[in-house]
Amino acid sequence: MNIPQSQSTAHPLTDTPINKIYDVVIVGAGPVGLATAVGLLKRGIDNILVVDQARAFRQVGQVVDLLPNGLKALQYLDPNAYEAVKTASLTFINSQQSDDKKTTEVIEPKPPKPSLEWVSKNFQGQKIRSISLSFDVWFKNYGEGRVSISWYDLQTSLRQLLFQDQVKPNHRCINVVDEQEFGCVRLDCVSDTSVEANPYAYWADGQKNNDIQSQNSDSDPEPSLTKSFRAKLIVAADGINSTVRKILYANSSNQAFAKPEYSGFAAIYCREIPDIPNELLKHIEEKFFAGSPIVTLTNYEHISECPRMLLINRHILGYILHIPVEEIRVQGKSGSDLLDLTLQELEKAGFPDALKELVRLSPPENMLQRPYYIHRAALTENIPPAWSAGRVVLVGDAAHGMPPFMAQGANQGFEDAMVVTTLITNIASYNNWDNKQAIASAFEKYELLRRPFMEYIQEATLTQFPDSSNQAWQEYNKKVYTRNFDQVIAELLV
Ligand SMILES: Cc1cc2nc3c(=O)[nH]c(=O)nc-3n(C[C@H](O)[C@H](O)[C@H](O)COP(=O)(O)OP(=O)(O)OC[C@H]3O[C@@H](n4cnc5c(N)ncnc54)[C@H](O)[C@@H]3O)c2cc1C
Repeated sequence: MNIPQSQSTAHPLTDTPINKIYDVVIVGAGPVGLATAVGLLKRGIDNILVVDQARAFRQVGQVVDLLPNGLKALQYLDPNAYEAVKTASLTFINSQQSDDKKTTEVIEPKPPKPSLEWVSKNFQGQKIRSISLSFDVWFKNYGEGRVSISWYDLQTSLRQLLFQDQVKPNHRCINVVDEQEFGCVRLDCVSDTSVEANPYAYWADGQKNNDIQSQNSDSDPEPSLTKSFRAKLIVAADGINSTVRKILYANSSNQAFAKPEYSGFAAIYCREIPDIPNELLKHIEEKFFAGSPIVTLTNYEHISECPRMLLINRHILGYILHIPVEEIRVQGKSGSDLLDLTLQELEKAGFPDALKELVRLSPPENMLQRPYYIHRAALTENIPPAWSAGRVVLVGDAAHGMPPFMAQGANQGFEDAMVVTTLITNIASYNNWDNKQAIASAFEKYELLRRPFMEYIQEATLTQFPDSSNQAWQEYNKKVYTRNFDQVIAELLV
């Protein structure tokens, strides 16, 4: 596996002078790329740049749960990042506090106080276990808390800790070239010229340009401008569909690992079911929710094959079904096809009638699907697809993206950021930017530490083995949440 070599000594598209070489360029301003940048800056490495393909940063993405291991890694990267993320988080506690305020203004009897628990139940409505949604309960159990935060708020909180000129949106990386003659790597990006000319146009330009959504969408592309940057090291945090990964693995024995593989699981979900008959709603609330805002339902005797239904009741009632299914059965399907498939799967798995009745009420236009992909951490071939080549290293979803069933994608990515940041800081402190051996050995250490742990997390995600018994659950929690990161870091630097 190699980075393509440069063919000539000059590159016409590089607008940075050759004496401008960044120490680190990070591809992708998602949670992991930004956490890496924040960690480097905190350690005095400020000759850095983050590029992202988004034409401008906007409200996108789902809610992400940050668990003790991810929060501990973030705290290690920069205590200010940890505080900023905690402050911006939208835990159920906050929403419940505002609900409480509302109910005090009403003179009617108060409804039962919602519990701060995510409950798992079997089809008979019996509780198998519950997960606290309270930061403090997690803190008490694992030495660190748990928060929920939208992907965009997470991105914004981290981005605001960097200098404005250190993060460039509207720069889609399309190529990486090893420029040995200059002792660096070159990154080629394309930008949309109109956004580059005035990135803040939509704030100032009246009605015409007020629609951020259309301004930032990928439709109606303007002519592209190509720009290049040079760096001693490149950290590729460009997500599961990573361009850098494809470049590294192209034309090599790792070609098969360039693109993400279908994980075998997909989500089918309904944002909202309106008009639920009172009797059905009451039955579902009493039997399944019983005061919790979210409940997982599955057949705990066949956990790896049975679909899991996440019922969510926060002002509106909706659900997410995680099912083992062929990709072609969900990809590109209409709302009514997805509804039919959901009902078939619920029937096959023996879900209770009340839940099937509920699903039948889903408006087809509210039905959505999302196949889940993976970059497997387990090595199945003799030649491992390494997470680095020369001066380039893959982190986060670009290295080991996976379905979100154990809520570990971003949390594991923060662990990568913690390790890679420490190792790069070590390279900087010995001025080893041009020491190929030191760079190779740093990235090897990163992979040796992180790959086996990712194998464990991915196995838990795909087989759901922690759900097989209370003991397995406790062991998983202990192994993932209670590690001592000071010791991990100390061993890394030996
Ligand atoms: C439904 C769902 C629920 C989830 N829930 C959780 C959860 O509860 N807890 C958890 O820990 N994880 C969760 N995850 C996973 C989590 O969202 C990801 O693991 C995490 O976002 C990965 O971060 P990243 O920075 O590696 O990649 P991303 O978040 O994918 O960010 C990649 C960035 O790179 C940019 N980019 C891509 N290509 C290029 C390019 N060529 N050039 C420049 N920029 C580029 C993108 O614009 C993006 O900003 C969930 C995922 C899903 C889908």
